[in-house]
Amino acid sequence: MEPVLNFINGAFVPSTSGATIDTINPATGEVLTTLPRSNAEDVNEATRAALAAGPSWASTSMADRIAWLHRIADALEAESETIAMLESQDTGKPIALARRVDAARSVANFRFFANYAQEQEPETFSDHGAINYVHRSPVGCVGLITPWNLPLYLLTWKVAPALLMGNTIVAKPSELTPLTAHFLAKTIHAVGLPDGVFNVVNGYGPDVGQPMVEHPDIRGISFTGGTATGKIVAATAAPMFKKLSLELGGKNATILLDDAPLDEVMDGIVRASFTNSGQVCLCGSRILVHASIYDSFVERFVEAVEAIHVGDPMLEETGMGSVISLEHKTKVESYIDLGLDEGAILLTGGTSKVAPVDNVPTRGAFLRPTVLAGLSPSSRTATEEIFGPVVTVHPFESEDEAVTLANLTEYGLAGSVWTADIERGHAFAKRMDTGIVWVNTWLNRDLRTPFGGVKQSGVGREGGTWSMAFFSETTNICVQQP
Ligand code: NDP
Repeated sequence: MEPVLNFINGAFVPSTSGATIDTINPATGEVLTTLPRSNAEDVNEATRAALAAGPSWASTSMADRIAWLHRIADALEAESETIAMLESQDTGKPIALARRVDAARSVANFRFFANYAQEQEPETFSDHGAINYVHRSPVGCVGLITPWNLPLYLLTWKVAPALLMGNTIVAKPSELTPLTAHFLAKTIHAVGLPDGVFNVVNGYGPDVGQPMVEHPDIRGISFTGGTATGKIVAATAAPMFKKLSLELGGKNATILLDDAPLDEVMDGIVRASFTNSGQVCLCGSRILVHASIYDSFVERFVEAVEAIHVGDPMLEETGMGSVISLEHKTKVESYIDLGLDEGAILLTGGTSKVAPVDNVPTRGAFLRPTVLAGLSPSSRTATEEIFGPVVTVHPFESEDEAVTLANLTEYGLAGSVWTADIERGHAFAKRMDTGIVWVNTWLNRDLRTPFGGVKQSGVGREGGTWSMAFFSETTNICVQQP
């Protein structure tokens, strides 16, 4: 595989220091290629290019920018299979999942914002004999920092609205998953987007992400990642009064009320628990079940979880691949051990010593989906983000208790409620301290809706008009009528 390079001012370049990092396929342990180990100097160059490209890009019409988004979407769509392959190799996720979720959504992000922009009405108000209208201008050069779990999906979720609103971009993908950001740069280069409008700088967070957040000419930062990193980003950006969007971690609850029809909901609960090896910020890692159905739920759930085929991500039948790295596998296993120390009963799965995965390379970062019961809902295992294929199950006696447990953690990203009674679902959803609640579904996304968390899960919302507002500055122009 060719090396990943930075993309600065329309050119593919190594880091100024010449240093590189290996990127590894976590399912095999093989080195896929290298990426630049960049530093503040590379960030400065990319920012200079973005600033120089800014005025010309900002002066293009909205119609032109919509056309650019469609061109990028078309070019990505033509290479969907390449995107799925790269993403599967870089993350260890099943190829079928990479096709269905990562490749499809990356195209959809550009398509959605292009189409949605056309539906927007001008924001005008008239009163006191004057007409007011809201003029939107770009923020300027914006920094986009993204994690490894859904690499191109989350990057394009930011790139599309940022370009649409006339901004120029310095992007930093996770150093664990640089392949599809590089592919996006090649695609953008091939369709002929003006030089400097979109730039990618690769490397470690403290070496590249931190200088981006510190850079005075990067006027907005859209960050998706862990809460601990988000705190550093917020502390750095706040005194500079940068526009800041933080999409952070979660410890989401999946709640089954006493009337939840188990046969019907089981598929959704399993998906919410283990999609992408549990490495989706929206995964439900705490399952709260009414005591009256707890035993029958647990029995059927464990049976369904044991039916998940864990193995080679390249095989169509694989339901779960590896986790992102051996290091992350060790972290997830330490939480399984912690759970057992805290008194958990292991219902299925466990560390790779207890539950090895057959026929996978020894250096592959594989784990079986793991279900722990018997823990206190306030234990560390049940309240800290593990971000792996581990869920805890807890019984509750009343809806009030379920609400208390659902809202128990410091996080507030998402959750799902499962019930035969839609009215109960509505009522329960409104009592949850989260930015998103699904009733009888999970990861059902309408891209027009606000996406984001409360408490330690973040600040701000993405999606539809929220993204368009984040990536623009508004000027209210008030004109007295004759
Ligand atoms: P991290 O917070 O470790 O990293 C996120 C990004 O920030 C990476 O590109 C990282 O670079 C970079 N970074 C690290 N340090 C700094 C710094 N000081 N300044 C600026 N950038 C920095 O998260 P992970 O990559 O481990 O992703 C998993 C986390 O992301 C989970 O907590 C998950 O819940 C969250 N997430 C949230 C989502 C949401 O929408 N709310 C969606 C998806 C994931 P590097 O990789 O080189 O360290």
